[in-house]
Amino acid sequence: MRNTARQTRDNRTITVDFHDDTTYFKLLDDRKAFVEFVLAFLLALGFQLKHKATCGGGGHLTRHSHYMRVRVGGVTIWRIQCTTCKAVFTILPHFILRYRQMRPEVARDALMAIHGGLSLELCAVIGHISPMAIYRLVCAFGHQSLVAVLTRCGLPLPTYVLADEKHSRCLAENVYLPTIVSGRVIWHLGYTKEASAAAFTQSYQEFQRAASQHEPSYRVRGVLTDGFDSTTKSMRTLFPGARLGFCLRHALNKLPKKLAAIASPVRQSLRVKFHTLLYRARQRKSLRVFTLGQRLRHFADHVTQKAGVANGECIRRWFQDKKSGWYAVLEDPQMPAMSTVLDQAHNAIDRKLFMMKYFHHPGGSQAAFLTGLAHLYNLIPYQRRAQNGGQCGVEVEGGRLPTSDWMLNLQILTSGGYQCAPVPPYH
Ligand SMILES: [Zn+2]
Repeated sequence: MRNTARQTRDNRTITVDFHDDTTYFKLLDDRKAFVEFVLAFLLALGFQLKHKATCGGGGHLTRHSHYMRVRVGGVTIWRIQCTTCKAVFTILPHFILRYRQMRPEVARDALMAIHGGLSLELCAVIGHISPMAIYRLVCAFGHQSLVAVLTRCGLPLPTYVLADEKHSRCLAENVYLPTIVSGRVIWHLGYTKEASAAAFTQSYQEFQRAASQHEPSYRVRGVLTDGFDSTTKSMRTLFPGARLGFCLRHALNKLPKKLAAIASPVRQSLRVKFHTLLYRARQRKSLRVFTLGQRLRHFADHVTQKAGVANGECIRRWFQDKKSGWYAVLEDPQMPAMSTVLDQAHNAIDRKLFMMKYFHHPGGSQAAFLTGLAHLYNLIPYQRRAQNGGQCGVEVEGGRLPTSDWMLNLQILTSGGYQCAPVPPYH
C-alpha cells in the first residue's frame, strides 16, 4: 500500500466531468478551451483548488498557468501548474480512476455490489477484477476524510450527534468501530482494538480535529449514546459542555434483562409500563424532567411489588445511574432521543464487513477501508421503492451534489486537489 502521509501531501488530483469522452479528446488539442472548461466546472461546483499554504493566487488557475501533457495508461492527461505557488494539479477526466487501470463503469458495478452486501470475492467474479483490486479501490476513496467530503456537499457540521461503537472481529480479536452519525449520514467511522475510553477518545478525536480545522468555532451541543461508560467518558473529554443523553429505546430494551427470576408475563407487563412511562415523559412539553424523576420512583416501587425487593433495588440503582442521561434527552427538544439511524448505519456496515476477509487482514489499512465504505453509505442512492428512494443520505440531509451520478460524485468529492476553505476576503 502507498504511504498515506505522502499521498495526502502530494495529491492535487482533481476529477472533472467532461460529460463524454469525445468532448475531452476534442478539448485536449485546444489549450485555451481546455482551461476554460476546467475553470467553468470549478465555478459551477463552487470548489477551490488546494494551492500551497503560501499561495496568494486566490485559489484559482488562470489561462496563463503553465501546463504540460502526460500519457497515463494510454490517455493524455493535463497537469496545470499555479504560476504563483508552483502547485501542480493533475486533471483527471471523469472516465479515469486515479492510479487505477479499472474503468469507472467496472468500479461502479463492483462498489454497488459491495454496498448491496455482496462479498469481495463475488463482486470480483461479476466484475472480472481481483478482490484485492476492489479492496484497494475502496481504500483509495477512503483517503479523503468524511468531514471533507460532507462539507464539500454543503452540509453544516452536525450540532447534535449520535455516537456508538460497533463490535466486530479481526481474526480472533475483538475490534471496535467508533461511529458518529447525524441523521442519514456517517461523519466518522474509526477502528480501535480496545474498548477503553482512551482508545475511543483517540478515534473520535479524528472527527473533532477535522471538524475544528474546517470551522474553528465548531461546538457539539448534544450527543446521544447508549450509556456505555467508555463512550460517555470520551465524549465528555472531546466535547466539554455538550449535553450527554442516553438512548431511550436502548433503556427500554435493557429493562427486561435487569429483572432476574420472574415469570415472563410479569417481565413483559413491566416493559410495557416502562415504555408508557418514557413515552409520556417525552409527550409532556413542560416539566418533563420533574415528571420523569417522580415517575421513575413510582416505577421502582411498582417493580418491588410485582417482582420482589431484589429486583426493585436493582432497578432503582440502574435508574440512579442512567437517569441524568434520560433527563438530558428530555430537557432539550432538539436532542435525538433514539439511536435508530445509527443502528441502521451499523447494520449496513456490518453486512459488508461480515463478507470481507480482507478486512481481517492485520496489516490492512482498516481506517481507509472503513472511511471508503462510509463514503459509499453516504453517497449511494437508496433503492427506488425505499423511503427517500432515489436519494442518497447526503441529499436527504439537505446536501448538494456535483452531478446526478453517484459514482462521479464519489470521484469528484474524494479528489485530493479540492479545498473547501471559506473564500478569502480578497476575492
Ligand atoms: Zn497557487
